[in-house]
Amino acid sequence: MKLNNNLSLNQRCLFSNKTTLLEESKCQNGECSTGGKKKLGAKRLTKKKAPFDPSKTDYMNCEGYVHSVESMGSLEGPGNRFLLFVTGCPVRCIYCENPDTWVNKNGTKMRVNELAKKAKNLKPYYEFSVGGGGVTCSGGDPLSQPEFVSSFFYAMKKDVGLHTCLETSGQGSQYAWDTILPHTDLVLLCIKHPNAKMYKEITRTCELDRMLEFLKEIEKRNIPWWCRYVVINGLTDNEQDLIELCEICNKSKTLQRIDLLAYHTLGEHKWKELGLKYIMGEGLIPKKDRLKEIAEFLRSHLTNKNVEVNSGAE
Ligand code: SF4
Repeated sequence: MKLNNNLSLNQRCLFSNKTTLLEESKCQNGECSTGGKKKLGAKRLTKKKAPFDPSKTDYMNCEGYVHSVESMGSLEGPGNRFLLFVTGCPVRCIYCENPDTWVNKNGTKMRVNELAKKAKNLKPYYEFSVGGGGVTCSGGDPLSQPEFVSSFFYAMKKDVGLHTCLETSGQGSQYAWDTILPHTDLVLLCIKHPNAKMYKEITRTCELDRMLEFLKEIEKRNIPWWCRYVVINGLTDNEQDLIELCEICNKSKTLQRIDLLAYHTLGEHKWKELGLKYIMGEGLIPKKDRLKEIAEFLRSHLTNKNVEVNSGAE
């Protein structure tokens, strides 16, 4: 199948220029949970740190920064789900709908035992839902609070008895991966773009290669994953982009599903409130028919026909 919505190279470069302008005005008050590119690079050079093991700690009293909690999500993993959104994110996506989650201390401090109590009260709604429910931790990016998220997942599995799902962009440190993944049943991995140059343009602070290393890590641990892919007209739905996305997916043995997420502008007002410039232009929201067409294209290019592709429009 042929797709016809490619931006010319010049048009894509226009995005690059605008992005550069935006980078100059990133984190509010000059703050950033990671300290930006330089610090990230430096972190990777440090000696390997032993992972945090919640079973050897007072994990119920572990405290973290929380953006919000929702008791009945249905799109972030199988079945009905308890959703925990934490603050802190090393990525700076140009279309982020929650820039208020970027900095850790913008969150409210909560302990794992408060969350466990809430989830336990609603457990029947999760465990008996179609597909089997559980808890999902999203953000921000949960990898930015490894001890808290691993303690939360550990408590959910051991004390509450619920399935755990991690929604992430797959960045962060090896320490964060080693700390959280042993307590994770399913990963929702947001692939911002399958092409290294465009990945950097969209995320501004992160590299595709790092996300691919994370993907290898979850494969190595045999953790099933769902791909989350934001469709933006002309920016992520180029035919070549979709072919490259399939190439990544076709290398995986644990991929179960691809969810297409239509780009939207619901978070635009938050950028303004934070004094940040929202650079996304007009005409970028895909129509339902386009999402269906892309889903069909992916289905025809995936080698594993058991991988479900959800257009979000059917
Ligand atoms: S990874 Fe998520 S929270 Fe972080 S900048 Fe991107 S969209 Fe926003």
